[in-house]
Amino acid sequence: MRTSSRYRATARMIATIGVVSLIAACSGNGGGGNADAGGGGYPDDNITIVVPFSAGGPTDTVTRMIAEPMAAKLGGKIVVQNVEGAGGTVGAGEVARAEPDGYTVLMHHIGMSTAPALYKDLGYQPLESFETVGLVTEVPMTVVARKDFAPATLKDLVAHVKANAGKVTLANAGIGAASHLCGLLFQTAAGVKLQEVPYEGTGPALTDLVGGQVDFMCDQTTNTSGQISAGEVKAYAVTTPERVKSLPDLPTTAEAGLPGLEVSVWHGLYVPKGTPQDVVQKLSEALKAALADQKVIDQMAKLGTAPVPAESATPQAHRTKLEEQLGTWGKVIADAGVKAS
Ligand code: ASP
Repeated sequence: MRTSSRYRATARMIATIGVVSLIAACSGNGGGGNADAGGGGYPDDNITIVVPFSAGGPTDTVTRMIAEPMAAKLGGKIVVQNVEGAGGTVGAGEVARAEPDGYTVLMHHIGMSTAPALYKDLGYQPLESFETVGLVTEVPMTVVARKDFAPATLKDLVAHVKANAGKVTLANAGIGAASHLCGLLFQTAAGVKLQEVPYEGTGPALTDLVGGQVDFMCDQTTNTSGQISAGEVKAYAVTTPERVKSLPDLPTTAEAGLPGLEVSVWHGLYVPKGTPQDVVQKLSEALKAALADQKVIDQMAKLGTAPVPAESATPQAHRTKLEEQLGTWGKVIADAGVKAS
């Protein structure tokens, strides 16, 4: 990805040189304008949004929903690229090291705030390595199992995993992923330690769950709603204090007898530190436009979520949330004594 980023930078430089030469020829001065530095000409090339999880999963789904209306607002083209691995930290690291020019953007979730407490050599720091662009959405999770898994209710599930701890498999998207955190909360609430099966995203994890290769997992409604409604998985509960409108029959974890299991997954957009502020602002405005798009609102509602309010799709609101979440999860993870290696 760094090679292609350099390639894009070179291609842009050639394009900029062409424009600058034309301005110089017309004005008779030495040119000296630089669209990238001021953000005035931004974007003049494709923008890549890196998703740090597999294609087809919830982070990917939300990104693809907003990419087109963002591109329309920016007057450019957005390409979504999946750079998966290590609970989202591989893709985040790639973006941290990319050119700070607004052409490489990261979509990440709650995992941005958990990774520093989990990984020893992360290679980036959330507050120092990125500019926050804006929050996107906050998504409830669901506890789901392969459809022929024996337990019928969440309480049955707890009893079953306690009795079969050595046999039951719990899928997740790697250490620090939302599914991993939710799985940890489940194990703590249930008082059990299970065998975890890591994937590079919950897209492939859900495929294996439907195929019966793993027993159960937590995942966002943006990934599980379709399979729950179609009866392809067994759903036990939603992990928010309120039920989800699009899945009205699904009880909350508190209603189902496991009040300690509460988590929802916030998402935000990032660019590398040093990206010009007016470029960050343009991206934030494009994000706001996408979140106000009726098609996006409807798609999200169908999948159990909603865009954040416009005032949260801003760099400052996002940074405030990130700071608060780094503190919260840093403590939870330290108390739990969990480490990635
Ligand atoms: N949302 C998933 C998780 O963190 C990862 C993904 O988007 O595939 O568990």
